[in-house]
Amino acid sequence: MENIVIHGTYFTSKNVNEVEFHEDHLICIDRSGTITRTLSPVDAEYSQILNDARQAGRLIELKPNQYLLPGFIDLHVHAPQWPQAGLALELPLADWLNHYTFPLEAKFADSHYARRVYQDFVHQLLSHGTTTAMMFGTIHNDANVELARQSVTQGLRAFVGQVVMDNPEQTPDYYRNQSSVSALHATEQFIKEIFELAKKTSSTVVPVITPRFVPSCTDEALTGLGQLAKQYDLPVQSHLSESNWEHGYAIKRFGIHDTAVMDHFHLLTEKSVMAHGTQLTSDDLTTLRQRGTTIAHCPISNVYFGNGVLAVKKLLAYGNSVRLGSDISGGYSPSLYHNIRQAIKSSQMLTDGVDSSLATATRGVKDSRITMANAFYLATVGGAKALQLKVGKIAPGFQADFQIVNGHQPLMKLSIADVFQRLMYQTEQQDIQSVYVAGKRVYERE
Ligand SMILES: [Zn+2]
Repeated sequence: MENIVIHGTYFTSKNVNEVEFHEDHLICIDRSGTITRTLSPVDAEYSQILNDARQAGRLIELKPNQYLLPGFIDLHVHAPQWPQAGLALELPLADWLNHYTFPLEAKFADSHYARRVYQDFVHQLLSHGTTTAMMFGTIHNDANVELARQSVTQGLRAFVGQVVMDNPEQTPDYYRNQSSVSALHATEQFIKEIFELAKKTSSTVVPVITPRFVPSCTDEALTGLGQLAKQYDLPVQSHLSESNWEHGYAIKRFGIHDTAVMDHFHLLTEKSVMAHGTQLTSDDLTTLRQRGTTIAHCPISNVYFGNGVLAVKKLLAYGNSVRLGSDISGGYSPSLYHNIRQAIKSSQMLTDGVDSSLATATRGVKDSRITMANAFYLATVGGAKALQLKVGKIAPGFQADFQIVNGHQPLMKLSIADVFQRLMYQTEQQDIQSVYVAGKRVYERE
């Protein structure tokens, strides 16, 4: 039996290369928030279901210029960095961390401040059409639990990480775990608290093993985190070969690549999500593929800190799991629409090359351009697969996580495929009318 029925036009990813368009359809959702079926106007029961839902007040009727899309899945976000989104992006990564990011994150020792920031940040994600996020917190248990609570309260599906950074050589004394033992103890405590919270809600809230990145962790911490990931069967998130500096750091300290270091400490699993990877070599990619580990592509952030463009098209062709993240605040926007656009723009620039003093034929990396359908897949079905969630698609059996978007008034005749392109290129926060998670409304534009 349907709980609610939506009547309108929807877009959903068919596969990595194709988007499906369905006009004037009914989407039926049961009480558990699962899509039970979709009906086209030629289906025999269409009129009956539409009328019954209307009479019972269970119908969500889209206006002529409104469209239904799946909610987005952001695989790499630093929630505590929200207050500084858009700041200091002209600095090199190390300066940006030491002069802006670490001092800001240190403030989350204050749980009241954490609550204020996280309340706003979770709301921002939802109001930008993001329904699931994999997030870094800070090293502070109470603040991280607050982030999880805010997510549950507001309805965001949340994967929350207690950050570990205990290496005195690469972290400031005011923002560091006191020892690897205390860092691991705090992580285990956090895992238990989130498990308790998860018991009390039907929503998704999952603790994530979170070594900040190889430079900030001692061998003891990395060893312990690998063991905790296995013991509790939890996802892992970190950064991997993000920049020339980070890629070079692992080689200097261990004599092997970042990927091999993570693998050595058992931190690459099919539940792992590693951000950036702009400097990964083909050997690294092979390892990631063998482990089933996902790369979170953060195209806006990479412009500032990546020292290169991730070859998304090549990675997809190899069979690597590559998905999308906003990387607040290495990226300035919580909007995955903006990141989808940047992913396409960056791939175009990778194809053409950027130094016009070089001969055209040698300037770029041929055939690197990705399509809108590719990028849409990364932000929806792809992200869901990485987190092993049945979301990201408007189809029977999937959770009803979606956004209703107001299209701009067309001034010329547009095909339904054109409408999709325009929505993806032009939708801003103010165009998102409402957002639902598991069939429950979690955001409505005022
Ligand atoms: Zn990051």
